[in-house]
Formats: sequence, structure tokens, C-alpha cells
Amino acid sequence: MKTILVTGGAGFIGSHTSLELLNAGFKVVIMDNLSNSKLTAVKRVEQLTGKDIKFYKADLLNKDEMRTIFSENSIDAVIHFAGLKAVGESVEKPLLYYKNNVSGTINLCEVMTDAGVKSLVFSSSATVYGNPSESPLSEETDLSATNPYGQTKLTIEYILKDIYYSDNEWNIALLRYFNPVGAHESGEIGEDPKGIPNNLMPFVSQVAVGKLEKLHVFGDDYPTRDGTGIRDYIHVVDLATGHLKALEKLQEKPGVEAYNLGTGEGKSVLEVIKAFEEATGKKIPYTISPRRPGDAVVCYADASKAEKELDWQARRTMIEMCKDSWNWQSKNPDGYV
Ligand code: NAD
Ligand code: UDP
Repeated sequence: MKTILVTGGAGFIGSHTSLELLNAGFKVVIMDNLSNSKLTAVKRVEQLTGKDIKFYKADLLNKDEMRTIFSENSIDAVIHFAGLKAVGESVEKPLLYYKNNVSGTINLCEVMTDAGVKSLVFSSSATVYGNPSESPLSEETDLSATNPYGQTKLTIEYILKDIYYSDNEWNIALLRYFNPVGAHESGEIGEDPKGIPNNLMPFVSQVAVGKLEKLHVFGDDYPTRDGTGIRDYIHVVDLATGHLKALEKLQEKPGVEAYNLGTGEGKSVLEVIKAFEEATGKKIPYTISPRRPGDAVVCYADASKAEKELDWQARRTMIEMCKDSWNWQSKNPDGYV
């Protein structure tokens, strides 16, 4: 049985991926400093799967803590989710983001090197395509960053490529996520943002549950079919299964490869509201507000490389994404408390 170290495994995507790993027969070791998550998420994954997770409250910035994890477990591969992800905060506190995300990943790779573990799946993001002028976006699209968070993802991608070029024994998948939403169908685990959500789906869910009064639609004068921004929303469980496919691919020794994980289909803000109302029977009050600075107009994936090389496709519909987001939110109005 293979043992996977999941950094950031208590977080939104990490908890869903850990669940899929356990269900597929992997052993899971999680390290997380719980800076943006709760141990309850890990406990719930254990309950849902009936399997144990070895949990370490440990920090990417503490190499000794990570060395302990590698010496106490026979790790075969690492899925690296741990990182800070709030774009606005990264603009205010760039050093925090570079230190946590970039230095943290360098530490992880050093400890992996010392332990002889050279298989890594990294959580990258569609943000590495900057503010794209057209979609769909293939992996060949030019890379750029428009904020410090995006710059950390881009920098880490370059670092990981250089690690591979210096030592061909490494196998690394750079998974570029589009917009993860939804939750496990049980409604036991889901996205638990701190404070007022920045992202559309958790905001809509919190309006639906009555925690927020109304949604502000950021701009309705974009050159799109209804004037609102278009994104590629992907169900977090589909995203999680993409990681298992990437792990399988690492067995074939692919070197370092980037894959878009998205549905390949864009939805506008108004289409998301409509789907949410249809899926849940809840009315979402909204007003049109000014554009949010820095927002891309349209951003969706060409996900054909992942389909061809990983045999992976996102399967869940927008209606399922909305249903599952609502199931989680209505069962856990205040998140993991
Ligand atoms: P999340 O915040 O829910 O999970 C990240 C986890 O990492 C948290 O549990 C946090 O406590 C932990 N963490 C942060 N810094 C750490 C450190 N120094 N040491 C140990 N643990 C640390 O976020 P998520 O949505 O699950 O995202 C996971 C990864 O995917 C992140 O790297 C994020 O940048 C990337 N990503 C997320 C999205 C998205 O919209 N959710 C999109 C693209 C990429
Ligand atoms: N959006 C919105 N109101 C909100 C949050 C987001 O209108 O309260 C819009 C945003 O302008 C974008 C889309 O919803 O067009 C997705 O935004 P999100 O922040 O979820 O993802 P990102 O822009 O980072 O891809």
C-alpha cells in the first residue's frame, strides 16, 4: 500500500483529496499548521471513510518538523496543497506569501531530497495565466502573474522545473486548478472561508443561508454573453480525483508536466446564480456593483491534455456543484465549529 503525504490536507481541496486517496486504498499522512483549517475536517474524513489518517500539526517553515514526518513514515509521494491563497492579502503582505509559499516549498523539496522522495503533485492555479486575453487556455499559454499570490505559484512552478532539470529522477505534476467549488456529497466536508468570502460560490451559499444579505455582482458591462465575468467552475471531488490520476502518471516517470484541471466550459456570474437557485430552490438577491479591480473577463480551461494523458475528465455539472455547496453550507452554516 502506498503512503502519500498530503501537505495542507486539512484544507478545502486537501481534505477532499485525502478522502479519495483513502477510498482508493492509499495510506494518508497529513501535515498542516491549521492556519486556515480545522482538525475537524480531518476527523470527518476519517469518519466518512472508516480509515485512520496520521496527522501532524507541522509547518512548511519548520524543516525539523517535516524531517520527523519523513523519518516516522515511509512516504512514497507528496501532494502539496499547503499554502496561503488570498489574492487581496497577498497584495498587502507579499513577504508573508513569498515566505510561506515559496520558502515553504523549497523547505519541503529539500526535506524530500534528503529523504529520497522525488514524486510530487503540486497545487498550481489558472492564475499562472495572468489576465488572459482569450480562452480556452491550454498549458502552452504564456505564463504571467498579476499579484503576489499568482507570482508565488509561478515561481514555485519554475523552481520545480529546475529541480527536475537538475535531477531527472524527480517526477512532478503541476496541476493548474480553475475554480474549485462544491463539496463532498455527504455535506460533512466543504469550503470554510474565514470571514466574508472573496469567492463567488461561498458568497452565494452564505447569502442563501441568510448569513449575508445579498451578492454584489462585480460588473455587468464586460464583453461577455450577459456582461458578467466567465469562469471555469470545477467540482472539488472531480478535482480530487485528478490528483489520483496525476499520482498514477508519476509512476510512468513523466518528468515535470503541467495539467489544467477544469471542465473546459465557462459560466457567467448570472448563470451561476440561476443554477444555484434552480438547484436549491433558494432565491439569491443581488445587485450590480462596480468591476473588481484585476478581474479577468473570461477564463476557462482547455482540459484536453489531462483527458489524453491522465485519462481524467471533470464529470459533475454546475447543478451538482450548487447542490453540494448548498448541502455543506446548510448543514454547517458556521463552517467547522
Ligand atoms: P485551504 O486554505 O483550504 O488549504 C490550504 C491548507 O494549507 C490549509 O489547511 C492551511 O492551514 C495549510 N497551510 C498553509 N500554510 C501552511 C504552512 N506553512 N504549513 C503547513 N500548512 C499550511 O486552501 P485550498 O482551497 O484547499 O487550496 C489548496 C491549494 O490549492 C493551495 O495551494 C491553493 O493556493 C491552491 N489553489 C486553490 C484554489 C481555490 O480556489 N481554492 C485555486 C487554485 C489553486
Ligand atoms: N464575483 C462576483 N461577486 C463576488 C465574488 C465574485 O461577482 O462576491 C465574480 C468575479 O468578479 C468573477 C467570478 O465571480 O467574475 C468568480 O470570482 P472568484 O473570486 O470566485 O474567482 P476568480 O475571480 O479568482 O477566478
